[in-house]
Amino acid sequence: MIDSKAFHSLSYGLYVVTAVDSDGRLVGCVANSFQQVTSTPPMVSVSLNKENATTKAILATGEYGITVLSTDADMELIGCFGFQTSADTDKYQNVDYSKCSLGLPYLMEASVARFSVKVTQTVDLPTHIMFIGDVVEAEPISDATPLTYDYYHNVIKGKTPPKAVSYIAEENPSNEKAPEPSSDGRIGWRCTLCGYIVEMEELPDDFTCPICGVGKEFFEKVTLD
Ligand code: FE
Repeated sequence: MIDSKAFHSLSYGLYVVTAVDSDGRLVGCVANSFQQVTSTPPMVSVSLNKENATTKAILATGEYGITVLSTDADMELIGCFGFQTSADTDKYQNVDYSKCSLGLPYLMEASVARFSVKVTQTVDLPTHIMFIGDVVEAEPISDATPLTYDYYHNVIKGKTPPKAVSYIAEENPSNEKAPEPSSDGRIGWRCTLCGYIVEMEELPDDFTCPICGVGKEFFEKVTLD
């Protein structure tokens, strides 16, 4: 028996994993799978989906950066790095960032600390690649509170991206039956991918989610409190 509720007891932080691809473009994505694996020497690991542009960049260069997100991170920032793809988006266009001595970007906003990592081992998993490596730079950025996955789900009301290691398909249905609004209730639409809610009677056909970029077919009707 595998009861998916057991996985809910696991704790995670939320991180932006950054890299520079073979064309010199800055890429990055959100991950909850970053962790320290040894202290002497200081080593860490992160697991990323094989389809991510960031994964391909790290495979090519053997280096990645980590920004530890703070509770100041909003859905616009998380949506940009977590739900859009670096393949066709410049995710750094509207964010405040700097670069480490390896040339890897790290965020200066909504940021608690940053790490720069040189990969020493890659582990090929069915859907993900785990990058284990040496920490070559580490620095606190602010005194803000680190963002946990629990805070993201319960306070920011964010959803789990399908490529995350902790994604559980049956908990993220895209075809939930829409609740019927009460006669005096306000009507809105919720993005089933990222959780974004817009208050509107009907969505225009060309509507796209400002957070994750999907079309109106991903939205479900909800009653607003
Ligand atoms: Fe969305």
